[in-house]
Amino acid sequence: MPTVYLSLGSNVGDRAAHLRAAIAALPQAGVRVKHLSSIYETEPVDFLDQPWFLNCVAEAETELDPHALLEALQAIEAQLGSKKEFRKGPRKIDLDILLYGSETIATADLQVPHPRMLQRRFVLTPLAEIAPHLKHPSWPEAVSALLDHQTDPSQVRKL
Ligand code: AMP
Repeated sequence: MPTVYLSLGSNVGDRAAHLRAAIAALPQAGVRVKHLSSIYETEPVDFLDQPWFLNCVAEAETELDPHALLEALQAIEAQLGSKKEFRKGPRKIDLDILLYGSETIATADLQVPHPRMLQRRFVLTPLAEIAPHLKHPSWPEAVSALLDHQTDPSQVRKL
């Protein structure tokens, strides 16, 4: 069964409760969580004029294929009532696939590894906490080294 890494984020309402609800919904969706990072409070990137996020990363196993996994995560987002006013704007819950085993996927609706993850401290910091030695074939180095060499200036604080 492939090991997958998921990123979870929320910056609207009771952020921690939204993260907990999404994590609780994963098993019924066919996603077995093996490790969870700490929760981090993180400064927004891209669109800066919005509340800070809570973010974490989960390592999980699933028999769902990558597109079925994306659909399952989108169903959880919909079930929790997440709706974005605009792209990169505030959201109750955002679930992303960071990695699906060592696969590389480049389709219209799904890109894995997540295309912006290596430029995001809010992804690399929790990922380095639970999987510092993780490396994808397309990456120059493992997660902990990628974090050491990170130039993203945004703030990430462990709660
Ligand atoms: P957002 O919620 O703003 O992060 O973007 C969601 C959109 O990104 C959806 O339409 C997905 O089809 C697309 N997408 C592409 N690659 C991924 C990925 N690795 N994980 C989650 N969504 C993805």
